[in-house]
Amino acid sequence: MEPQRSPLLEVKGNVELKRPLAKAASRLPLSGRRLKRGPDQMEEALEPEKKRTRGLGTRVSTTHPRAAALSSAPQTQGQTTVPKAPRKPAPRCSTAVAPVLKTQKPGPVVPAQKPGTTAAPPMVGGKKPKRPAWDLKGQLCDLNAELKCCREKKQVLDQENQQLRDQLQEAQQQALALGAERRSLEEELTRVRAQAEQGQRELGNLSAHVLELEERLGTQEGLVQELQKEQLRLQEERTGLAARLGEQERRLQTSEASLSDSQEEVASLRQEAAAREAVLAEREDRLHGLEMERRRLHNQLQELKGNIRVFCRVRPVLPGESTPSPGFLQFPSGPCGPSDPPTRLSLSRSDERRGTLSGAPAGPTRHDFSFDRVFPPGSGQDEVFEEISMLVQSALDGYPVCIFAYGQTGSGKTFTMEGGPGGDPQMEGLIPRALRHLFSVAQELSGQGWTYSFVASYVEIYNETVRDLLATGTRKGQGGECEIRRAGPGSEELTVTNARYVPVSCEREVEALLHLARQNRAVARTAQNERSSRSHSVFQLQISGEHAGRGLQCAAPLSLVDLAGSERLDPGLALGPGERERLRETQAINSSLSTLGLVIMALSNKESHVPYRNSKLTYLLQNSLGGSAKMLMFVNISPLEENVSESLNSLRFASKVNQCVIGTAQANKK
Ligand code: ADP
Ligand code: MG
Repeated sequence: MEPQRSPLLEVKGNVELKRPLAKAASRLPLSGRRLKRGPDQMEEALEPEKKRTRGLGTRVSTTHPRAAALSSAPQTQGQTTVPKAPRKPAPRCSTAVAPVLKTQKPGPVVPAQKPGTTAAPPMVGGKKPKRPAWDLKGQLCDLNAELKCCREKKQVLDQENQQLRDQLQEAQQQALALGAERRSLEEELTRVRAQAEQGQRELGNLSAHVLELEERLGTQEGLVQELQKEQLRLQEERTGLAARLGEQERRLQTSEASLSDSQEEVASLRQEAAAREAVLAEREDRLHGLEMERRRLHNQLQELKGNIRVFCRVRPVLPGESTPSPGFLQFPSGPCGPSDPPTRLSLSRSDERRGTLSGAPAGPTRHDFSFDRVFPPGSGQDEVFEEISMLVQSALDGYPVCIFAYGQTGSGKTFTMEGGPGGDPQMEGLIPRALRHLFSVAQELSGQGWTYSFVASYVEIYNETVRDLLATGTRKGQGGECEIRRAGPGSEELTVTNARYVPVSCEREVEALLHLARQNRAVARTAQNERSSRSHSVFQLQISGEHAGRGLQCAAPLSLVDLAGSERLDPGLALGPGERERLRETQAINSSLSTLGLVIMALSNKESHVPYRNSKLTYLLQNSLGGSAKMLMFVNISPLEENVSESLNSLRFASKVNQCVIGTAQANKK
């Protein structure tokens, strides 16, 4: 049970109860700033107001409105007029209204005191004077006034409450709208976040792309720098080239100038050359005429000298040989004295048989011989060749030429034809010298339009068999098998079957052939002792000349023959098996040599029949002998007294030949 209170205490309690209401009312108006908060904040802010509003409703019915009215009027006035002034705690209900007014906007002003109420005790120092305890009527009057005031206040508060309710509803609607807005904003936020994430990803991609592009940019920049450097270099090069071009152009201009000068010069030179060519052609004609004249005169000279000539050559006494007695061989001077080339030879021989028959020793018999030329022992190879070079020249002019070396074995035939041993150029024989001479003259004649070709062959005739001295390979050194045939039916030309015919054009080739022939002879020598001296060696050179410009041709053989030893077999010798063979050889040799003599005689006597066929030698040489041919015979003589008999035989044979005059030679021209 609550204790009984006085009315004042009851009012006081009402006033205290009204405090939360005043607080709630002061919070209801929402400022624009507060409305701008987020929906959550708004709800939080609104929630206590609702509670308070509900609380207010219940309390309003129980509280006494007068309590608030008692002190609210002056307090409100004080608040509105002097808000910041220090305030004294209001008595009774003033504390309940004050917190509300602190934050409340100025609302409708409640009149503090209405006129017509019972007069209140005068104010002492701003304070209402307290009625004495006995003034119950006054007190009642005050209370009635206060009650009236409270009722008015209540009415105002109800209105205000209604307003607040409206505001609350409005605020709730706003809150709903704000909630919807918040959701949409949240959705927007989600969308924006998604967009942001997408944007982030894109940004990432873009960053990567940017990095890549930057990298590429770096590469491109490097490239650009390189290109710039290259450009610079090219520019420099271009500058250099332009300078060179300028230089070249200047040179070209100079060259063009000199070229035009040269062209003029060339034109004048051409004119000059044409004039010279005309002169040259004229001179060539004259030269050709002169050459033909030279050939004619040369031949005439040779004919005057004789188409068959005999040269006698006496070899020197070799080391180890006995020196002949003085006067054994003499070389009397010619009619013009010692300066004349010797042509005579005297041989003194003491005839023992003649002395024996008469009973007293006879003096030496002197044999005189005369030839076209005599070469005493001291004569060199060059000296000998000089005499025959004119004859070799005739072969080039188209006259057949045949040179023999006749004499006993060891008299110097091979030395004269091929030369001495050792390859000493001074010792070279007629064959290499003649060929060298031919090559050099052919070379000279090529300037006049003549073209010459030479084909060589080298055979030996032993015991009437022909053997090739140029055979190579398996045929090397073998005898026989070669036959002399006409080159063709009705042909005058002869050829040796199975023999090599080698084209030659220089000395070295001729040397090689002579070397090969020596080798072949050496092989044969092992089979049959000293066969070389028992056989005839025939070196033949077929010379062909052509003057294409004038359609002239000439062809003639040059034959160089190293005859077999002419020595006779001693009839007093006993005939053993070796001697019999030797006899057969000798007979063959003698037969062929006498046939040669007979052929020369027949030709000399212009006999109708010339016995060429009587020996292989004459048969082979028939084109080199006779009418159109020029013949030279070397008779080689040993200087030794012991060979006097053979020397005399040789000299006699040669003398016979020398007496022959072969008919006028005809150049083999076409
Ligand atoms: P053939 O061939 O007549 O049998 P060779 O030519 O073989 O004689 O000569 C015999 C030797 O005499 C060789 O040793 C050769 O060198 C030498 N002889 C020949 N003639 C001369 C010469 N005119 N001068 C020097 N030596 C010669
Ligand atoms: Mg010889």
